[in-house]
Amino acid sequence: MPSYSGTCHCGRVTFSIETENSIETENALGDLYRCNCSLCTRKAIIMKPVHQDDFSLTSGQDALSCYKWHTGMAEHFFCSECGVYTHHRRRTAPDQISINVGCLTGVPQPAEDQIGLVDGAGLD
Ligand SMILES: [Zn+2]
Repeated sequence: MPSYSGTCHCGRVTFSIETENSIETENALGDLYRCNCSLCTRKAIIMKPVHQDDFSLTSGQDALSCYKWHTGMAEHFFCSECGVYTHHRRRTAPDQISINVGCLTGVPQPAEDQIGLVDGAGLD
């Protein structure tokens, strides 16, 4: 399986993911999404979900802060040094981790028409 690594801005938090397909192919890009909930709207990030077994935090456990709100089910992680959101555990699929596509190294930002929308606002 292809793997990709990602970092926060200051580099303390690093992670890697494995995906079924190359994230650069149109096929796999179907997994990319934005969410319109009140938190994601403020972050304005593009996310990609992976199974928790395909996500590895490779450094920075001590630097990670966790934000919870509303039901407290989802865990939103960000670097306490640079403030960059790196990943979160999904409320609607707790065995999945969504990662910040903008943190991935060497992956171009996807085209707008390859990004889906999750109606997180409907879950508020
Ligand atoms: Zn950082």
